[in-house]
Amino acid sequence: MAGEPQGDCLFCKIVAGEVPATVVRESETTLAFRDINPQAPTHVLVIPKAHHTDAAALAAEAPQIAADVLREAGEIARQEKTEDDGYRIVFNTGAGAGQTVFHAHAHVLGGRGLTWPPG
Ligand code: AMP
Ligand code: ZN
Repeated sequence: MAGEPQGDCLFCKIVAGEVPATVVRESETTLAFRDINPQAPTHVLVIPKAHHTDAAALAAEAPQIAADVLREAGEIARQEKTEDDGYRIVFNTGAGAGQTVFHAHAHVLGGRGLTWPPG
């Protein structure tokens, strides 16, 4: 069922404390931690604590939590002092777009110049 923890999901395991992560922010519904393979000086993942497979599923199944993820992404940018220079919030959706973990997550990237279009 949507929102229920999935035993084989890496990010559900991080939420459960079964896999370690460098947590930088937490709210009632979200968790933010540093990406293990950072692509920029600031590279933080913001996830809903509940399991939803991708951003669109999250927005359809739990719109308030989708809003929480976006708010927290903005708070991360402020906390990491990337707010003024600009930062990027990315939701890779589907394997063809680079999604490797099928638990919705926002990448918050900043701290360097970010080219457009992305690769
Ligand atoms: P995506 O490829 O968009 O699904 O993003 C998944 C992200 O999770 C990648 O950027 C990985 O580097 C990151 N990642 C994988 N395992 C971990 C982990 N144990 N802790 C933190 N980040 C991770
Ligand atoms: Zn999950």
